[in-house]
Amino acid sequence: MDGQRCPEQTPQRGVPEVLLCGECTQVPGPKGRYALSLTATHLHLQWLEQAPESPGCLLSLADCIGCCAFKGRDPADPGGYFSVFWYPLKKKWWRSLEARQREAKTFRLETCRDPKENLKTAERWAEKIRELSVQRIPKEEEGLYSCLPQPRQLLVLVNPHGGKGEAQNLFYSQILPMLVEANIGFNLVVTDRQNQARELMRDEDLSRWDAVVIVSGDGLVYEVVNGLMERPDWKSAIKKPVGILPGGSGNGLAAAINHYAGNDQVSNQELLTNCTFFLCKGLVAPMDLVSFTTGSGKCIFSFLSFAWGFVSDVDIESEKYRMMGHTRFTVGTLVRLSSLRTYKGRLAYLRAEEASNQNTEIFPNPSSSSTATSHQNCQKLQPNFCNDTHQSLNANVVHQITSESSVDEISNLIPLDQPVPNHWTVVKEEEFVLILAIYQSHLGTSYFTAPMVSRPDDSLIHLFYVRSGISRTALLKFFLAMEKGNHLEHSCPHLVYMPVKAFRLEPFTNKGIMTIDGEALECGPIQGQLHSRLARIISGSKK
Ligand code: ADP
Ligand code: MG
Repeated sequence: MDGQRCPEQTPQRGVPEVLLCGECTQVPGPKGRYALSLTATHLHLQWLEQAPESPGCLLSLADCIGCCAFKGRDPADPGGYFSVFWYPLKKKWWRSLEARQREAKTFRLETCRDPKENLKTAERWAEKIRELSVQRIPKEEEGLYSCLPQPRQLLVLVNPHGGKGEAQNLFYSQILPMLVEANIGFNLVVTDRQNQARELMRDEDLSRWDAVVIVSGDGLVYEVVNGLMERPDWKSAIKKPVGILPGGSGNGLAAAINHYAGNDQVSNQELLTNCTFFLCKGLVAPMDLVSFTTGSGKCIFSFLSFAWGFVSDVDIESEKYRMMGHTRFTVGTLVRLSSLRTYKGRLAYLRAEEASNQNTEIFPNPSSSSTATSHQNCQKLQPNFCNDTHQSLNANVVHQITSESSVDEISNLIPLDQPVPNHWTVVKEEEFVLILAIYQSHLGTSYFTAPMVSRPDDSLIHLFYVRSGISRTALLKFFLAMEKGNHLEHSCPHLVYMPVKAFRLEPFTNKGIMTIDGEALECGPIQGQLHSRLARIISGSKK
């Protein structure tokens, strides 16, 4: 096999051009010689003792994460070798859901007696396969999506406390082998305590890393996002691509990214392999964030959800069942249903429709490609959020304080101690069972809460609330149907759904808890607003 010259081809319509071809054997593997050919999209393997019209084996380079060439172990062996690693979507024999599964093949070639020449030929194959396996940016996302460089260096943060406490084991047993196959460099930080990752993100020289990768649940992503937003250079820092590899119990972001790629809703190891595959391919997509300001003056950034009432209670109360993994939320739901209660407060929101009815847009148009201008956009578009008096007040403040925090700089909501503007909707009811704002499709691996979300940057906050009066059975049915995302199909008179750009909640008592991205927050007045495409997340491309 010479791996370079192929017989002269007359290009034929519909027949892909063969870029490399030759003969080889497989090791270990079935005996006999094979014809191997490489096109721009596939590696084709044909057993030479088979009839030429038999289809052979076709490996898609879209599934390939790496390829490496090497010499044989025996010094007397003149052969050159290369191994290909790919992860096609497959079903296990006992279930109907597809997930990525590892396959590897090693080929031996010997075109002459010179081992150096044979190794060179193997290297040529490996290099070409790697080049053709590079993630392509989908046409419709050009200018918006990007790709991590190759070679790449990652900062990997592992939370040993996440989920059942298995994140570190998962890193060594599942993630590391894939990073090696994809030839990706990394530095590993295993956190010792809560907020260590947040502090690290505040001070780290980010230019050393092509991406920051989190092996945990959503809590560690929350730390990373907030750490990045606390930096003086937050505008560029928040553009650092973030990767999520599920190693927690609430893996909402990982489940959402898996869903956006068109994959089946899988969990545990299968979800981890899918997400590690995305990381190896390195496609980067923009992601919306929501900024919150609280009555006590806290500024928080969020990528997933805000909850108050039933959902936040379940999240926090189920901490004690952490060893169950994501099942802890099901158990927590049943426990809380048995002592169902209501929560009193005032809710107001700015409907997405209302925001775009104002004569200027509030946030960047989803089809405009720049994410770097979100700050300018928010300031420019301030009149939509504020009444006129406040607008001039706010402009003054922005002018006087030069080293603003990121929230001060980009938030343009009227302060919490003033009434919401007239074009906001104030909800009549003041007694709720739950209020949930979500900006990704999944709240957890088995919670397909917002099936209307199909990308990480849809520029909407999906606001749900359940009024008091709902029966336990109806609420149980609602949560059971959420696993498959069918919960909105059955009419439920107590449930209200509204796509919004901003909202404000003023609970009547400070007792209890709220959660942001699953992290506890003391209960009190709070408001949040959407920032379209502020962050960047490693994603998969649609099948
Ligand atoms: P899970 O989905 O299992 O809740 P998370 O990623 O949400 O996993 O992490 C749970 C909590 O652990 C978060 O509040 C996070 O800030 C915190 N945390 C991070 N590192 C550590 C550590 N080393 N020890 C204890 N807690 C940690
Ligand atoms: Mg968590």
